[in-house]
Amino acid sequence: MNLPDSSRIGRKFPLGFFPTPLHALQNLTEKYPGYKLYMKRDDHTGLATGGNKTRKLEYLVQEALDQGCDTLVTAGAQQSNHCRQAAAASVQARLECHLLLRGSKPETVNGNLLLSTLMGAHTHYCGEDIEEEDVRQVMDDLRRRGRKPYYTPIGGSTLTGSLGYVDAMKELKEQMTGQKLPIDTIFFASSSGGTQAGMLLGKAVHGIDARLMPVNIDKSGVSTHGSLEDAVLVIANEGAEAMGLSKHFTPEDVKLVDGYGDAGYGVVTEKDRSIIWELASTEGIFLDPVYTARAFYAMTDMLKTGQIKPGANVLFWHTGGTTANFHYYNELSGR
Ligand SMILES: *Cc1c(COP(=O)(O)O)cnc(C)c1O
Repeated sequence: MNLPDSSRIGRKFPLGFFPTPLHALQNLTEKYPGYKLYMKRDDHTGLATGGNKTRKLEYLVQEALDQGCDTLVTAGAQQSNHCRQAAAASVQARLECHLLLRGSKPETVNGNLLLSTLMGAHTHYCGEDIEEEDVRQVMDDLRRRGRKPYYTPIGGSTLTGSLGYVDAMKELKEQMTGQKLPIDTIFFASSSGGTQAGMLLGKAVHGIDARLMPVNIDKSGVSTHGSLEDAVLVIANEGAEAMGLSKHFTPEDVKLVDGYGDAGYGVVTEKDRSIIWELASTEGIFLDPVYTARAFYAMTDMLKTGQIKPGANVLFWHTGGTTANFHYYNELSGR
């Protein structure tokens, strides 16, 4: 039988170490009676320290190579984990890497930006917002220099990138079977939407019942290109059609867990600091202040307030970003 599958519509350039571990959070489970807590370690995908963008970049980089491109262009915040992993992926695939970054050139280069720079990525500072015009300019300049650039947007959140998380759900299913571990609920951070869209598709393709809890790490409803929910819905339905899934996703399927990101993107709050401290000091595992801290806080809050069915096996999908802690050291050290 020819099952709908990501391999029908994309190919991978291997960049990471898979499967990533899935393990119990023993100490933390004691603090949340009535639940069993687990973690999926995509902070350990292995590419330049790891993170969720590794899975997306495997498909994106292969698409770039298949199109005969020799340069990868992408965009993000100065401390973007996606940009750091895109720089590493480019090194591995021998592509020239160009990063369009928000803001102006910083006085000190640290955290993810330091790592991207060490990997030879070229940086372009675009001011307050990265506009289509900025992208076009960089692409045109590269073409004038005789390069063949491939562009993937912020977070690599296209259908191609999302395929990495369709596969990730298959990986999870195999681990659930192997460990005889039925997962009921999956918490994770959602921001540009590709991870969420891929998980949603992967759930349908691979027949997984677990409930997705995508935590919006930014202010509700904020996005330059429509809402995050709309972006997820578009990618998921595009994927369903391309893979021949007899499924149409509705707004109900892409609902975000809202209200935990109201401080705004990249603003490190006391809650972010304290939840990073809580996990680090109970399990020796580091969250990041921009994404996973907010998602993890949402999970603990919903457990404490009984919003998750008692007795549930709850999985936190760690999407990486720990290198950003080295940029936010002032906020995190409590000064
Ligand atoms: C990019 C990122 C996310 C969000 O993934 P999207 O696919 O952009 O929604 C979550 N966590 C970390 C650490 C990230 O770098």
